Amino acid sequence: MKENVVILGAGESGTGAALLAMSKGKQVFVSDKGSIVRKYKSELLSANIEFEEDGHSLDRILAADLVIKSPGIPEDIELIQQLRAASIPVIDELEFASRYTNKPIIAITGSNGKTTTTLLTHHLLSKNGVNAALVGNVGNSMARQVIDDDADLYVAEVSSFQLDGMYQFSADTAVILNITPDHLDRYNYDFERYADSKMRILQGMQAANMLVYCSTDAYLDRRVAEITAPIVKIAIGLEPTEENSGYVESDNLVYDKSVERIQIPLKELPLRGPHNYLNTLVAIAVAAHYGLNEAQIRHALPSFKNAPHRLELVTSINGVEVINDSKATNVEAVQYALGSFSRPIIWIAGGQDKGNDYSSLKQLVAQKVKAMICLGVDNDTLLAEFGSIVPAVSETQDVKEAAEMALEYANASDVVLFSPACASFDLFNNYAERGELFKEAVLQLKEEIDA
Ligand code: ADP
Repeated sequence: MKENVVILGAGESGTGAALLAMSKGKQVFVSDKGSIVRKYKSELLSANIEFEEDGHSLDRILAADLVIKSPGIPEDIELIQQLRAASIPVIDELEFASRYTNKPIIAITGSNGKTTTTLLTHHLLSKNGVNAALVGNVGNSMARQVIDDDADLYVAEVSSFQLDGMYQFSADTAVILNITPDHLDRYNYDFERYADSKMRILQGMQAANMLVYCSTDAYLDRRVAEITAPIVKIAIGLEPTEENSGYVESDNLVYDKSVERIQIPLKELPLRGPHNYLNTLVAIAVAAHYGLNEAQIRHALPSFKNAPHRLELVTSINGVEVINDSKATNVEAVQYALGSFSRPIIWIAGGQDKGNDYSSLKQLVAQKVKAMICLGVDNDTLLAEFGSIVPAVSETQDVKEAAEMALEYANASDVVLFSPACASFDLFNNYAERGELFKEAVLQLKEEIDA
């Protein structure tokens, strides 16, 4: 009898998993609690895959031999609990896809910097003729690309939610950028549990495999020191120490673990800020591991364009740089954002607080922020934390008004930084919509000012 595969959630990963399962001769059923976007619906229809939307048929789902769940579905909902009780395996799409390829997988995780580092690693490799497939949270789902499996290797952005559903998946190279509190609501507010989930990226790795990690994160550094598997560990930091193979020295990024020492002037880098030095060094370490030399890396760097909403320069208005960092949905990302500018900052923050601890930001905010605009439904926490530290504070629930207020506070050569430290769901559908609306508002204001 055909294996009965049920897929929960019909987004990019679910649809990809359904197409892969179908191509492997499985019996496939897709179930989505909400409505399925037209693009995916028509793909499912044309592949003759059965699906349902706006609700789950419990009997069909509980008849599955294997369930592939969208990483967005939390573990504690009734449906998943029932599947667990029935001992039906529930896995992630990356786990499923990895079972159908023998190509090397570069798996990149961390609390912050995943997308940037994944995109940059992919860019360095593909610009130099490596047929690298971009998968995971960015690009097309891995399952979809495994159907033909014609890439040389896979570069995968992997979140902790995905790792929670990964069991036999084994990376050729793993990257852990950092582990700082995020998404704790999905981990019973237990940081160790969240960290354990990140460390799962190492499962199944063998002696020839490599882990690249940032030693700047003291917690991560300690966890890496505890690893007993005989893998190669490559540390990346901001300073040349005995531990670090990649570091910053005399205004250069240096990586000294490849065949020849790689050295790249900071002024040639496409991304700003110390956190991006780390991300770039990580990408260089991985690229060097897969055969690239300094000349090839240097040649590819200038053409890199990061995804939007990550310290993205929107425009300059009368000498004021306006930066959209809507993707900064946690405290650490904001810490790095604030650290990336030497000019005075007008900081726009706020949204849905995920149980943030703001204490690590206070000193930086006191040094750099001359005015703050709180943009959230409930701004009480931010006001309580920063109201007495920042000289001027305003509050609004309207993104255009936030931009207006910020520009009013700003003098030429200041920076307006929209780096919320919070999730977006109180006022927006997601961080991308929040960022787009912010950019739109800023560009509209610029037009009005220029008119
Ligand atoms: P992720 O995919 O992990 O969410 P992104 O690359 O999308 O990471 O960046 C998310 C946010 O984190 C952005 O605000 C970005 O400026 C910030 N950031 C990027 N790299 C790092 C890093 N290495 N450490 C801390 N913050 C970072």
